[in-house]
Amino acid sequence: MSMETVEVDYLVIGAGAAGMAFADTLLTETQATMAIADRHHRPGGHWNDAYPFVRLHQPSYFYGVNSRPLGSGAIDAQGPNKGMSELASGAEILAYFDGVMRQRLLPSGRVHYFPMTDVEDDATIVSRLSGERRRVKARKVVDAAYLSPSVPATTTRSFGVAPGVTCVPVGELPRAVRPGASYVVIGAGKTGIDACLWLLESGIDPRQISWIVPRDSWLYDRAAFQPGRENLATLISFMANQVEAMAEGESVDDVFARLEAKGAVLRLDPAVKPTMHHCAIVTRTELAALRKITDVVRLGRVRRIDGDRILLERGEIPTDADTVHVNCSACAFGFSNRPPCPIFEGRRITLQWTRNCSPTFSAAMIAHVEAAYGSDAEKNEICTVIPTPRDPLRWLQIMAADLPKALQWAARPELMAWMAQSRLDLIAGLATLGETDVKELAELERYRRNLAPAIENLQRLLAQTGAPRAA
Ligand SMILES: Cc1cc2nc3c(=O)[nH]c(=O)nc-3n(C[C@H](O)[C@H](O)[C@H](O)COP(=O)(O)OP(=O)(O)OC[C@H]3O[C@@H](n4cnc5c(N)ncnc54)[C@H](O)[C@@H]3O)c2cc1C
Repeated sequence: MSMETVEVDYLVIGAGAAGMAFADTLLTETQATMAIADRHHRPGGHWNDAYPFVRLHQPSYFYGVNSRPLGSGAIDAQGPNKGMSELASGAEILAYFDGVMRQRLLPSGRVHYFPMTDVEDDATIVSRLSGERRRVKARKVVDAAYLSPSVPATTTRSFGVAPGVTCVPVGELPRAVRPGASYVVIGAGKTGIDACLWLLESGIDPRQISWIVPRDSWLYDRAAFQPGRENLATLISFMANQVEAMAEGESVDDVFARLEAKGAVLRLDPAVKPTMHHCAIVTRTELAALRKITDVVRLGRVRRIDGDRILLERGEIPTDADTVHVNCSACAFGFSNRPPCPIFEGRRITLQWTRNCSPTFSAAMIAHVEAAYGSDAEKNEICTVIPTPRDPLRWLQIMAADLPKALQWAARPELMAWMAQSRLDLIAGLATLGETDVKELAELERYRRNLAPAIENLQRLLAQTGAPRAA
């Protein structure tokens, strides 16, 4: 039987946030045709598999695709995000990407969408429903799944559970609650934080919760990342505080001590040194709520749950049949930790981050660079890869790679103009500053003054640790 052939300019593997942000910008800036194939039944990637109470950790305002706002720009009037820009729920994110696909990409007539489809190799896609195979003749292949995160719903539990023990993936938590139960939340990444906050917001007494925290994280304060002109000074102060701490720090630990003293990072327990840093964002209200959980177990990862005890790497704690164990351990980072590779390599484009912790901005920027620039060498020079963060040392390596970009990109007026109009660019507002913005300009000057010393000092500190440069 002959195979249908789909002829397009680009085959995009994955209709998650990265693939959608890339396709949207490419559609705006070129006449290219695209085939977008994804295993899921609708766009949105891992958000299809997320737990029911998931929300963005960052404001909706800066997330999604460039051409269409996510949310209404509302300020939350209640809850732990009170006073701050709204955070889209998983359901809102899925409806948003569905709308982008149905109302923007498909009506263009230039996009073919293949849901429930596996990309087998760069030239064959296979329907998961019918098994039908199609050949795709594409000029370029875009891997929009390279940094795809693993989430609890699609990941096998890494520890054993004895019969009779209630242990649920985080997505089943709302169905597993029962009056009088105690809860053990396993994991301290974004998901573990969300599970604890959901239990607390649902009225569970903090004394009913035990939290297994294999490793503590540095956290960002969401107040620093609020949209709107009125919040620009706070954002620039945050940036200035970061570079000042990096310019003045005398060791990796000292940089973090300075960052913390300036409010540029937060942590759960001031007495515990974090060994993770993965861009998790909280409000100070959320942090105060999390601190009400006093039974924080720092004995490493769970190895096994028996009927009466939980065995961990460095000890054990009691448990019982009335306890609901909530597995949040699959996704510590919210993105994969695959090694960086060149973004533009001949026929292949591998979507990765061009700016720290900015997946959708990065994907849109890569599409712009693909559309507007010539050789792979030039495109890769603009789009050097920022690796995904893990721990404090790697975060400083990343900053050492990220900060010089501010200088490199500033030398390209065309690129700066594109960023200034990009909805996804957290710092796009900087381009609107005028001489009456005295406070903002003063903070920007503090940032600029410390930028080069910060880059230099980071290189020195990293050399002392023997850590290689990140990119
Ligand atoms: C709980 C949580 C909260 C988060 N909050 C934020 C936040 O506030 N802000 C932020 O910027 N980031 C956040 N993130 C990070 C988040 O991972 C990214 O924002 C983004 O959603 C990742 O999208 P992606 O397209 O890279 O990956 P995915 O969403 O995983 O999309 C990849 C897609 O590719 C498909 N695919 C893979 N291989 C194939 C194949 N061979 N054939 C067909 N299809 C394939 C998959 O089915 C999937 O649909 C969060 C992550 C989590 C887990």
